[in-house]
Amino acid sequence: MLMAARYHMHFLEEGKWSDHMNEKGENNDCLFCKIAEKKVSADIVFESDDVIAFKDIEPKAPIHCLIIPKKHISTINDIDGSNSYIIGLMYEAVAQLAVSFNVDKDGYRVVMNCNSNGGQTVYHIHLHFMAGRQFCWPPG
Ligand code: AMP
Ligand code: ZN
Repeated sequence: MLMAARYHMHFLEEGKWSDHMNEKGENNDCLFCKIAEKKVSADIVFESDDVIAFKDIEPKAPIHCLIIPKKHISTINDIDGSNSYIIGLMYEAVAQLAVSFNVDKDGYRVVMNCNSNGGQTVYHIHLHFMAGRQFCWPPG
């Protein structure tokens, strides 16, 4: 894991990337990179230069979208001063989705899982944007 994080940090330094990265910063083994590249189809609900959002294939709420950076970041542990701006852009996308799905007033849940105990199954960071029902606290 430490090695993976280091690889990623190296990629983020100009001109360097790991074996898994191509010159555009995409991870060739990663499903969400392929969705961002439009090589795998998804129901896209938002797109900007840096961020894309699409409907979750197994929705856990009436509205369930995933917001991802277009460039590959494996987990929250790989976020640092060089790439943390993307988190703000992802939340800007959430705010726009909340208005477009008309759930900004009622509310919604936003979650990012990390590694095994957090329940992460796809290792390209994503915010879950879920709405359209009441959510419990604490989560299970
Ligand atoms: P996590 O378990 O937090 O890593 O979330 C991964 C999410 O990706 C799950 O909610 C899956 O249902 C969703 N997912 C997996 N494959 C796809 C896909 N091809 N298109 C859309 N959502 C997907
Ligand atoms: Zn990726």
